[in-house]
Amino acid sequence: MKYYSLHHKAPMVSFREAVIQGIAPDRGLYFPKEIPTLSAEFFQQLLTADRNEIAFEVIRGFVGDTLPKSVLKKIISETLVFDFPMVSVENNISALELYHGPTLAFKDVGARFMARCLGYFNQDTSHEKVTVLVATSGDTGGAVADGFYDVPGVEVVILYPSGKVSDIQEKQLTTLGKNIHAVEVAGSFDDCQEMVKQAFLDPIITKARTLTSANSINVARWLPQMFYYFFAFQQLPKEAAEVVFSVPSGNYGNICAGMMAKRLGLPISHFIAATNVNDVVPQYLLSGAYQPQQTKATIANAMDVGDPSNFIRIQALYGNNYHRLKEDLSGFAFTDEQTRSALVSLYRAHSYQADPHGAIGYLALQKYLQEREAFGVFLETAHPVKFLDVLPEALSEAIAIPENIQRILPKKKKAEKISTYSQLNDYLLTNA
Ligand SMILES: *Cc1c(COP(=O)(O)O)cnc(C)c1O
Repeated sequence: MKYYSLHHKAPMVSFREAVIQGIAPDRGLYFPKEIPTLSAEFFQQLLTADRNEIAFEVIRGFVGDTLPKSVLKKIISETLVFDFPMVSVENNISALELYHGPTLAFKDVGARFMARCLGYFNQDTSHEKVTVLVATSGDTGGAVADGFYDVPGVEVVILYPSGKVSDIQEKQLTTLGKNIHAVEVAGSFDDCQEMVKQAFLDPIITKARTLTSANSINVARWLPQMFYYFFAFQQLPKEAAEVVFSVPSGNYGNICAGMMAKRLGLPISHFIAATNVNDVVPQYLLSGAYQPQQTKATIANAMDVGDPSNFIRIQALYGNNYHRLKEDLSGFAFTDEQTRSALVSLYRAHSYQADPHGAIGYLALQKYLQEREAFGVFLETAHPVKFLDVLPEALSEAIAIPENIQRILPKKKKAEKISTYSQLNDYLLTNA
């Protein structure tokens, strides 16, 4: 399996090179040259098959021969150490809870998988130490920090916007130590992402260190997210005929992985991109014009993205054909006020505790189902406890703080404070 750059000005590479480089030399995202389909037998056995076996079959074509079978199996079993339960919320609506991992974010799967791939590729001594440089709007940081903690040969530098992530999120990325380094940026998430991009283009930095990204730009973080959709099918009620997924979306890695799962043969009838007021994709679906926006801060901060990096992959998957894409994808955007009232009504009417991102997924699904009959699954992408500071009081009081979070709360935060790119440059040259 080869990967090409979506900017078409870089050589094709293997999975291994795509993982190590993160992004192609021409700054394009890597995309698989062809998408393998899964056999009829695979789908016949899907409902009863073992989870790890499913994941192995789904991903092996993308990995090719860069990982021995036994290593890939081990990586999968170390990645999938928690459950992905589907919880019924209404008659024809269920939540697929992706947040039961160590940092309570769905990103745990991608981060754990990528860390282990990179760890394996790095055993080979011809490679120097790799530095994972990543910007986070909240959830990526914790998942990457936990996933990469203590992985030999890998240093991790995480940039996050000061005051714009929740307390728990900040603790998750600033208290681990060892090979995990937090950089607190006076600015927005976009500023963090801009600094990361600049570092990747800075010859002084790239001469001194081998940089890679652990955002969903990296194929090893992006592709394992396909698993969720297969695990969902294992848990669907028998009467579910047409199945639609509503995916709370920021950088569009998760929803794009779902679309890949469909391309592999999983019978998903439609996708719904659920967003906060950062609605560049819902707007695109209305007008056909893709116009990046300034990021607006919301209570669903992991989706505060004005120019989603994976949207180019979605377009590639649909042959850059707006009409074909629209057949498979709808998009709806919601304000903080609508999100808060959905949180309350989910709790009062359905005894379901959602987080702000999941609540937006629910709202978008409801809207879609007003016009159509289908069985809807919204993805619950984070545990509500991570957003205590923004939840309506009635809800935040009712949420029990899980033990692994209680343990980090008293720990002391350690972060390097910066406000300019040249400070990041200095930091990367002298630290970590
Ligand atoms: C990252 C994240 C999202 C957005 O996922 P994308 O793959 O970037 O679209 C949604 N919800 C939560 C809680 C997240 O952490």
